[in-house]
Amino acid sequence: MKEPQTKEPLFGKTLSQMEAIRDRLRLPPYTPKQIARWLYRAHVREIQAMTDLSKEARRLLEEEYVMGTNPPTHVSESSDGTKKYLFPPGVESAYIPDKDRATLCLSTQIGCKMGCRFCWTGKQGFQGNLSPGEILNQYESLPERDRITNFVYMGMGEPLDNLDSVLDSITVLTSDWGYGFSPTRITVSTVGLLPGIERFLRESTCHLAVSLHSPFDEERSLLMPIQARYPVKEVLEVIRSFDFPRQRRVSFEYIVFEGFNHSLQHVKELARLLQGIRCRINLIRFHAAGEPERLPDGKPLKPATEEQILQFQELLNKKGIRTTIRKSRGQDIEAACGQLSTRKRQEL
Ligand code: SF4
Repeated sequence: MKEPQTKEPLFGKTLSQMEAIRDRLRLPPYTPKQIARWLYRAHVREIQAMTDLSKEARRLLEEEYVMGTNPPTHVSESSDGTKKYLFPPGVESAYIPDKDRATLCLSTQIGCKMGCRFCWTGKQGFQGNLSPGEILNQYESLPERDRITNFVYMGMGEPLDNLDSVLDSITVLTSDWGYGFSPTRITVSTVGLLPGIERFLRESTCHLAVSLHSPFDEERSLLMPIQARYPVKEVLEVIRSFDFPRQRRVSFEYIVFEGFNHSLQHVKELARLLQGIRCRINLIRFHAAGEPERLPDGKPLKPATEEQILQFQELLNKKGIRTTIRKSRGQDIEAACGQLSTRKRQEL
């Protein structure tokens, strides 16, 4: 028998991965579907609880595998009902209830390599990729699990920089042998990693959100180092050439910074840039914290006022670009957009 610390987690495996386990351990043909049902429908916490597997099958599984689910160790609750959870090994997720829906904001990495200038996670540096099981554990072990209706891959990390794990986690979330959610309930957000976008569009049917923040190359480069490697125009060409079914959505995330990216020129250039793409722009309030982040010329990044955001929205709508303003949630517990990082914790 393997030492417990060297055993692999069973939770997070896809059906085809479990079929490979079955073949290797010479288990009965129907075992993978039985295990999937125990993991993703019955929510058991130990292999011994999978009672329709033979004792021998459970023994063989226990020799090499552990369950791999972990409850959260810390939580902070916002006055607006948003909760920020911390799961081992340092994974933050935000639970965001809103009337009859509840969204879970999932992390895919600990820290991030992308270094976006406005983001706390980016400042934390990169500590590692999450496995599919660690991504899914944020849902499975969430106290409010049964209330979740939607998922956004917008927590810590760049999802397309850990695409194998993200795609496996989506397979478990959307398969009928898994959690059985519709892909239209899932949105994956990216800064625009071009090879990852192409593969994500081909291999998944979930919604795509791209962080845009400025239509002008030089300005976007000031905010997002990725612009130098994958200019957003090339990203948009790939999106434009992809044949989206009606129910699949593309949106562009746009943090509005005072005096920086909400002028009439920005509206005109956005209209030109997004021509031919059926999409919407999501305007996001900037959640500054601590020392203001400065652009290379020394100017601080500041949040636009409500009035400026509304004006910008009106101008974009007039240009025919469907534009919404995202509600700010969980700002007081640092669970709002761009605020996730494992800096502050509160005991559960
Ligand atoms: S905004 Fe997203 S991609 Fe950019 S540094 Fe933060 S977590 Fe990474």
